[in-house]
Amino acid sequence: MSFVSTRGGDAGATFEEVMLAGLASDGGLFVPQVWPSFEPGDLAALAGAPYHSVVAAVAGRLTGATFAESELTALAEASYAGFGHPDVAPLRDLGDDMHLMELFWGPTLSFKDYALQLLGRLMDAVLDRRSERVTIVGATSGDTGSAAIAALQDRPTADVVILHPAGRVSDVQRRQMTTVTASNVHNVAIDGTFDDCQDLVKAMFADPGFRDEMHLSAVNSINFGRIMAQISYYLWAILRLDALDSGASFAVPTGNFGNVYAGYAARQMGLPVRSLIIGNNRNNGVTRLFTTGTLALEEVVPTTSPAMDIQVPSNLERLLFDISGRSGHVTATMMTDFRLRRTLNVPRSDLAKVSGLFRTAWMSDEAVEGYMGHVYRDTGILLDPHSVIAVAAGRMRHDIPSVPLVAIATAHPSKFPAAVERGTGVLPALPERLSDLFDRKERCTDLPNDLGVVRSHIRGVVERRGLENR
Ligand SMILES: *Cc1c(COP(=O)(O)O)cnc(C)c1O
Repeated sequence: MSFVSTRGGDAGATFEEVMLAGLASDGGLFVPQVWPSFEPGDLAALAGAPYHSVVAAVAGRLTGATFAESELTALAEASYAGFGHPDVAPLRDLGDDMHLMELFWGPTLSFKDYALQLLGRLMDAVLDRRSERVTIVGATSGDTGSAAIAALQDRPTADVVILHPAGRVSDVQRRQMTTVTASNVHNVAIDGTFDDCQDLVKAMFADPGFRDEMHLSAVNSINFGRIMAQISYYLWAILRLDALDSGASFAVPTGNFGNVYAGYAARQMGLPVRSLIIGNNRNNGVTRLFTTGTLALEEVVPTTSPAMDIQVPSNLERLLFDISGRSGHVTATMMTDFRLRRTLNVPRSDLAKVSGLFRTAWMSDEAVEGYMGHVYRDTGILLDPHSVIAVAAGRMRHDIPSVPLVAIATAHPSKFPAAVERGTGVLPALPERLSDLFDRKERCTDLPNDLGVVRSHIRGVVERRGLENR
């Protein structure tokens, strides 16, 4: 099992290298050189297996020699043991063969926990074995940061520095990060947007000197380990719905394109994924790209679904690599051009290769609140604004009636209480274990959107750690 960068470099990288590096050395994203495939018999054998066994089966095919089978199974089991629902990823019936897969039963109430609880443990195991320590640097539009912090707090193998856009994450999201007291956790509020935060992180990784000196590592959705963990719940849903023969379609609220790319990856691995319906909010670059072949960069508009307030979805590059015939050169040129001209042009003939698979729809905040109320009155189910977009986009674009449709709920409604109350009249309560979140003390550093300043802050963090460890 080996990997290659979407820009052609690092061919032959192992899973261990890919997981620790995050981003490839040429600035591209790692993808398998050849997708390993499930045989129908392998899939049928997983019917009735618990969630962590499905994860271990997927990971076993993608991690090569990095873990023994028993180690992988134990790490997967530990990753989901603390989740708040016995099914881990329960499916609820929405009527008309439509289902809601709730991916918010982890410690920070978003689907990011499903990837990061596993990735944190896989990284820790590998670093411990190598007697190494890393500095995890990440940008978050809200949910990645808290999920990464929850997965890595108090682990001796990692410091965690998380940049979030000041004032652009919800109070619950911010507090889930800033109230963690572990000494290896460092929160930074950047005066800018999520894309600014992401650009800062990318710039630090693009500098080999800084990257090596700080032992930088990433757990953003660019890390293939996250994609791997996310492939698992597509398989889980298909097994749960007994849909190995018919297949299933999925509706996915999309920001950085990691979740829906995992659905695409599941299909590459031989799973019967029929359609992937991409839901956007007003930051609808992906919808525009799929309908016109062009993504002209626009300003990020803040919405009530902030985890989707993204104009440049990083994982799109993985798809572009595939549809351009897996040419690192073509992909690299396309991405450089995009930076330069602020417009991405994808040839029609390339888009046509996946036009049978992807559907798109986008929604305004007003429509989100309206639809949220409609679902609540109809079914009694409270949806957060991100999940509403999945359900609504699914209803709008589902086009294979004989196939079950799974809308992915990516956050617990209590993460976005104000929007949920406006939409439904109901103020959703935080689960018991988080009920004192607003009484806890916050710890965070405010910094300008300035690479030099952020760099020296991280240098300081790493130096202090060196002193403490003497
Ligand atoms: C991260 C996130 C998304 C977007 O997922 P991507 O993988 O970035 O497309 C959607 N909803 C919620 C609640 C999220 O946290």
